[in-house]
Amino acid sequence: MIACLDLEGVLIPEIWINVAEKTGIQELRRTTRDEPDYDKLMKGRIKILHEHKLKLADIQRVIATMQPLPGAQEFLLWLKSEFQVIILSDTFYEFAAPMMKQLEYPSLFCHSLVVDEKGNIKNYKLRMPDQKRESVLALKKLHFHIAAAGDSYNDVAMLQVADRGILFCPPDNVIREYPQFPVTKTYDELKNEFLLCQKAFRIPE
Ligand SMILES: [Mg+2]
Repeated sequence: MIACLDLEGVLIPEIWINVAEKTGIQELRRTTRDEPDYDKLMKGRIKILHEHKLKLADIQRVIATMQPLPGAQEFLLWLKSEFQVIILSDTFYEFAAPMMKQLEYPSLFCHSLVVDEKGNIKNYKLRMPDQKRESVLALKKLHFHIAAAGDSYNDVAMLQVADRGILFCPPDNVIREYPQFPVTKTYDELKNEFLLCQKAFRIPE
C-alpha cells in the first residue's frame, strides 16, 4: 500500500495565507479552498505579486519562517513506519524546499515556477495537468493499493480514484459537496482511517 498525502492544510499551513499575513496583502488569502479553478487562482496570485513588486526570494523568506502544523512531524514519521508515503501537492519545488527539511525530506511530487533572471515569478509550470489524480492512477497500474488524504477541492480527483479517500480538516463547503469521504479532524483520527485501509487491503496469508 502507498499513502498519498496532500501537503498544505494537511502537514503544513497554507503557504499563501502566511504570505498574505506577512506581507499584509489580503487578496493573497484566496486558496484552493475558495477557488476551485487553480489556473485562475495562480494567475491572479502572480499578478498581485507583480503589482506589489514581490519576488521569489521575498516569498521564500516568509516560507522559511513557517513551521509544520502541530503534530505533523510525528504523524508523518508514524505514517512512514507503516506505509510508503508520497506527498502529492499543487505547490512548487521552489516554495516547498524549506518545509521539506523540517519534514525530513519525504518524496514530493509537485510543480515548478518560471522565474526570470531578476527573480520575478513570471508564470508557473504544471508538471502535468491533474497530477494528483494521474499519480494515483499510475501507482495503481503498478498494483499498489492507495489510501489518499487531502483537505480541499484540488484533492477531490485524487481521493476519488484512490482505493480510499480521506478528508482531513476540510472546509464545510467541501464536506457538503463530497459527503462520500470520511472526515477526520485530528492526526489520531487520520491515523485510524489509514489503519482501516491497511486492514482492508492486507494480503491474505
Ligand atoms: Mg491542501
